[in-house]
Amino acid sequence: MYPDKKKVVTRFAPSPTGFQHIGGMRTALFAYLLARQNNGTFILRIEDTDKSREVEGAIAHTEEALRWLGIDWDYGPDTLAPFGSCIQSERLPSYKKYALQLIEKGLAYPDPYTTEDVERFRTEATEAKRPFLFRDHRPDTFEAWDGTKPLRLKVPEVKRYTWTDLVRGELSAGEEMLDDIILIKSDGYPTYNFAHIIDDYEMGVTHIMRADEFIASTPKYLSIYDALGFEHPEFVTLPPILRDDRTKKLGKRDGAKDILEYRDDGYLPDAMRNFLALTGWNPGTEQELFNKDELITAFDITKIQRAGAVFNEEKLLWMNKQYLSHLTPSEKLDFVSTYLSETIKGLPQFSMDRLIRAIPTITERISIGKDLTMACEAGEYDYFFAPPVYEVDLLKWKNDAIVADTLPRLEKALKALETAEFSSTEAVKAALWPLTDEFGRGEVLWPTRVALSGRAQSPDPFTLAYILGSAETLTRLKGACDKIRG
Ligand code: GLU
Repeated sequence: MYPDKKKVVTRFAPSPTGFQHIGGMRTALFAYLLARQNNGTFILRIEDTDKSREVEGAIAHTEEALRWLGIDWDYGPDTLAPFGSCIQSERLPSYKKYALQLIEKGLAYPDPYTTEDVERFRTEATEAKRPFLFRDHRPDTFEAWDGTKPLRLKVPEVKRYTWTDLVRGELSAGEEMLDDIILIKSDGYPTYNFAHIIDDYEMGVTHIMRADEFIASTPKYLSIYDALGFEHPEFVTLPPILRDDRTKKLGKRDGAKDILEYRDDGYLPDAMRNFLALTGWNPGTEQELFNKDELITAFDITKIQRAGAVFNEEKLLWMNKQYLSHLTPSEKLDFVSTYLSETIKGLPQFSMDRLIRAIPTITERISIGKDLTMACEAGEYDYFFAPPVYEVDLLKWKNDAIVADTLPRLEKALKALETAEFSSTEAVKAALWPLTDEFGRGEVLWPTRVALSGRAQSPDPFTLAYILGSAETLTRLKGACDKIRG
């Protein structure tokens, strides 16, 4: 629990400029976990003040991604909140109110310059080998602000800032980082710099969790907090997510996929959430599997790491496999039915009964749903639902001289199975096993398995026989014997 007495309020504040990927969802999850473990509030805020970058459908996509991962918000674009809308473009009066207060205090002014003026200042600065700063050109007298010009902050005090980040520790930056930045643009929309500060204040946000690219601008934000007379929330900078080879941050160009692509590929939301939680945080124990409630309890911001967290796709696959194996039989059936290809469902012997018996075998062999679809498309499981097609010679065990040598053993296997129980894989095994003692394992199991699957590689014959059921197993074994007899 966070020791502060104040109610914890966190937010996830995406700009609707595209799809959500791993990084955004990890930020959302951490903010969510901190809020939930403190019985606090988690807000989904839409930062849509740059209308030129807005992508249609991005808000709905974000909501869908969060819902998929079970990250529910208390206030969001779809709810009414005590502080008003959670969509920045619907909060313009708030930004204006605080902008006017700053003007009143002499801490904001309309930018009087044209683009050409600014270009000239820039060139002069470059020629004089000094950084270009707006505050060096601050006009002595300010006109009244009519909203058509950008409104700039008059930095209240040019000084070195030192602040504490709950993950990074003490940070500081010199006065060269401070400038008279734009608060409200000439189109009437606030900048991110200004809007997020007003929103966090009005929404009562206690902890800002966000990526490390915002560290460099923190002194600028601090000067705005000072100008407004606001206390700043806690800063909690999350570690960057690195590509597998650790050379770079995982970016959209390096395979940072749309998070919903993982859903469509057959990753389970619980596995993805668990994986994201461990990307940059660790519980300090050996435990790796956490359901949502366990995460809420175990999450600890003091254990968020500073160093980059490697995105390990292998680990994600492993995690998904773990979650897949823990599904209940009916959840497994739903999962398999979703990812089984249509061609399989159209095979002549397709039946629910057989599918249900095949489920443990199928799920054991895959990590994600897409593996199953691909295996089906490659004809991998056709033998469960269609008579096998194979060359007679495939029945020949490697130690046999000719395929006919296997015939007596296949006939014995057939006989043994005629009276066998097909209630489980073990029951089938119990019926066949004595023959392997008598003739050798490969000698019996190879031809029996090929007779059932028609494949050089497939699950073992006991499993196959159990899945196919007694009648079909006997038919296939008889078919193999007939094939050898010619
Ligand atoms: N709107 C910002 C972004 O999408 C959010 C930064 C923040 O969390 O304050 O990157």
